[in-house]
Amino acid sequence: MKRTLLFALLFFIPLASQAQGTSPGQRVDKAVQAMGGEAALSGLKSLSVRARLKEWEPHQSVQAGGEMRFANESVYNQSRDLASGAVRTEWERNYSYPATRTYKFTEVVAGGIGYVNGIDSTGRTKQDLSSNPPQHTMSGMRVTTTTREMMRSSPTLLLEMKKNAKRVQAAPAQKIGDTSLPAVRYQSSVGAFIVTFDPATGLPERVRSRDYEPLEGDSNWDLVLSDWRDVGGVKYPFRQVTQLNGKNVTETTVEEASFNAAVDAKQYAIPEDYRAGAPKMADPAKVPYYWVLRRPIIGTLLDSDAVSYDSQANPGGLRLVDVAPGVSHVQGGSHNSLIVEMDTYLVVFDAPIGEAQSKWTINAAKQKYPGKPFKYAVLTHHHMDHSSGIRSYAAEGATLVVGQGNGEFFKKVLASPATLGPDAPKQKINAEVVEVSGRYIITDGKREVGAYLIENPHAAGYLIGYIPDAKLGFVTDLWSPGRDPLPAKINPALLSVVNGVKKWNLEPERFAGGHGSVGEYAGLAKLAETNQP
Ligand SMILES: [Zn+2]
Repeated sequence: MKRTLLFALLFFIPLASQAQGTSPGQRVDKAVQAMGGEAALSGLKSLSVRARLKEWEPHQSVQAGGEMRFANESVYNQSRDLASGAVRTEWERNYSYPATRTYKFTEVVAGGIGYVNGIDSTGRTKQDLSSNPPQHTMSGMRVTTTTREMMRSSPTLLLEMKKNAKRVQAAPAQKIGDTSLPAVRYQSSVGAFIVTFDPATGLPERVRSRDYEPLEGDSNWDLVLSDWRDVGGVKYPFRQVTQLNGKNVTETTVEEASFNAAVDAKQYAIPEDYRAGAPKMADPAKVPYYWVLRRPIIGTLLDSDAVSYDSQANPGGLRLVDVAPGVSHVQGGSHNSLIVEMDTYLVVFDAPIGEAQSKWTINAAKQKYPGKPFKYAVLTHHHMDHSSGIRSYAAEGATLVVGQGNGEFFKKVLASPATLGPDAPKQKINAEVVEVSGRYIITDGKREVGAYLIENPHAAGYLIGYIPDAKLGFVTDLWSPGRDPLPAKINPALLSVVNGVKKWNLEPERFAGGHGSVGEYAGLAKLAETNQP
């Protein structure tokens, strides 16, 4: 009897009191209180912030799954109208990857549309290129993403949750490192947030979304809040870190923050020329957040709802271009793949952008090469922009061929659950993964297709493709034939292609690119001979 009572005291009573004492509503109330109280938060009309930040891209690393690529160090001044949700951000982004450059531009999102004044990316739209000064409307996907991220970091998020109590639900405690933090779930107008709380202070600790990340599967995208300071009677977090599955992708330090400073309404005005025809907010359930959030980290977002092409510049979209008998190059987007026809099956090089582009490519190939499934998918390298559609090929039954050191990484990719990706195959994938430490030859007895490991400065375990009967190579990022003119002096990336061709005794006449189109090899070979770096 005594023992039973003790057991009850130790286990049941604490559980019961936890359940009774901390309803989701009470968690939210406590947080609102800790931030300064309902009256103080209700008085917040606008927020002005000056901040600096550093950003990293996890899947542009040298080694697959290795140290993240440091991408930029930036500063911004931001004004937000907390009632309407309008936001204006004046950026100075200083990039070190993929190339050193600085972009100064202003973003405005207001009234469900968005606009950018200035150059913000290497991937520029026709509208941007034909405006002087460069300006363009935001894609609907970027408007939705910005709106979601502004809501996530809003000082009035908890107040909004308190006012919309019906949309606040209990959530399981979230495991953060070695600890487990109490949490609630909030269904906002742009998707669900899971908010965790610091048990000591009651303040929100992070605001989490569950998103699809092609190489990591169903993932946590978190804004972690700390260094809370008093700003005019309200607590505001001066350190804000975004994490992808626990890895710091953005580290923001707020330098100045003030509430209710007078902001001229013109600051949020979008010029009439850019209002008409501006894309409306995209459906939050269909936005590929991993793309829209992370391409700006390396300064390469093509601001288009077609994702890989600008529908104004290229209304036709993606297309198969025959570059040799039984060889089709997927062109028309920012990133290409190459399809090679064998006797009874197909081989594809690279799976760029995401599952939507893979689906397009698989469907187009089914029409052009009926009855021939993809049996091999070869990745030149692991970078997310060239590999994020790999699940679709694996789900079709293709064997995945990757360079040395990438095998374990991609086995993990294919094993990770992908229930949250709108275009991701949902079934369990049992694809074989082949790791190439030299060369790998696919043959049907007549045609041969090879993948060759080459030394290069871009990514470890890198493969070039080669089809001997077509004298055609395939290369991604080291050389973008048809897009980038050859420089006056050869660079290490281009030289690595030439050295790879020599090493493996290949005799290419042309190369098709993961970017660009198809180019003659002779010019590059000559540049390498006459002009060492
Ligand atoms: Zn790359």
